[in-house]
Amino acid sequence: MLYDCSLQEIGAIAGDHGLDESYRAQQIWHGLYSTFSTIDQLTTIPANKRQSLSEDSRLSPSLTLVTESKSVDGLTTKFLWRLPDGYLIETVLMHYPSTSYQSTEPATDDAADDEAIGRTTVCVSSQAGCAMGCGFCATGQAGFDRHLTVGEIVEQVILAARAAKPHRVSNIVFMGMGEPLANDARVWQAVQRLHGDVGIGARSITVSTVGMVPGIRKLAERTLPVNLAVSLHAANNELRNQLVPINKTYPIEELVEACADWIASKNRRLSFEWALIADTNDRLQDVEELSALAQSLNAHVNVIPLNPTPGWPTVGSAPAHVKWFVDSLRSNGVNATTRKNRGTEIDAACGQLRASHSVAISRRANNQRST
Ligand code: SAH
Ligand code: SF4
Repeated sequence: MLYDCSLQEIGAIAGDHGLDESYRAQQIWHGLYSTFSTIDQLTTIPANKRQSLSEDSRLSPSLTLVTESKSVDGLTTKFLWRLPDGYLIETVLMHYPSTSYQSTEPATDDAADDEAIGRTTVCVSSQAGCAMGCGFCATGQAGFDRHLTVGEIVEQVILAARAAKPHRVSNIVFMGMGEPLANDARVWQAVQRLHGDVGIGARSITVSTVGMVPGIRKLAERTLPVNLAVSLHAANNELRNQLVPINKTYPIEELVEACADWIASKNRRLSFEWALIADTNDRLQDVEELSALAQSLNAHVNVIPLNPTPGWPTVGSAPAHVKWFVDSLRSNGVNATTRKNRGTEIDAACGQLRASHSVAISRRANNQRST
């Protein structure tokens, strides 16, 4: 498929159509990754060759639009895509005007600059579904379909970048469907492509993990300094085992050790994500446990009021309680922010658009595959 092809493969395909391999490969590559053009739009290629290239199945895009929904303020757009084998995935495009900037990512060294110019973030999926089974998450409730390919990850950014014009995508967060560090080799190749060919700064790319310790350790060895966000949600093993089942395999002590090693090797600040759930992880005890853990790693804490999902009975903490929680963290000396829920009215939280799509996902995917 188009975005799974390497530069050499694009060249070989161009050659099959009677075009000069290396010259045309560069031209096509530039069109795909710098101007986000479709093959049809590559006017540097003679019209008859463009036509035959666009009919070559090896250069077909992977993602077909199912629905696109925009929030009332126009700042958030959510895309639901169908993969070639019928599975559905989501991508979210978020604009942050400089006047109403609010962080969704860990504080980075260049956050202050971003604030002045505003920014455009794409939230990408790394898997169709997720095998981690976090009960409060719509993606987790629906189970795992498959890993995404490098091209399927990259194409989400390209299509969102096309929709974002005239704004340029400045940030990428791996906070859509799936666990990126369970698909880490492909995620990493996608990161390299987005950094090297699309031109997104490594410090503007954030990988969010539920706490896959081996993946965090591998990330520490990678050269590009991407941000790491860990979805903590509970700072004691008993509660975390319930909220995030992978904690039974990689308990908090091991997770913290891997995080500390990542910080030491990358010299970057870690961030913790904390979905605030009423009467579950929003008590004084949670403030104290989280404060101690965050301080020990000098981590930033992003508090996100839980978005309600159909398969989970608990709701997010009330706004006044969210404020109390964040203020309490701050008065303990923790660097904490509240992440605004973007596009709640368009089901913009992880896995929700797909979940609310009228037909049951697995049934739909099966139908798609059998047709
Ligand atoms: N699998 C990775 C990345 C995708 S989930 C991870 O878990 O980190 C992205 C973020 O959305 C995670 O922090 C996750 O805990 C959070 N999330 C999932 N369901 C949510 C919900 N219903 N409300 C608020 N945040 C949610
Ligand atoms: Fe998977 Fe992340 Fe959802 Fe957990 S929160 S089920 S790891 S996508």
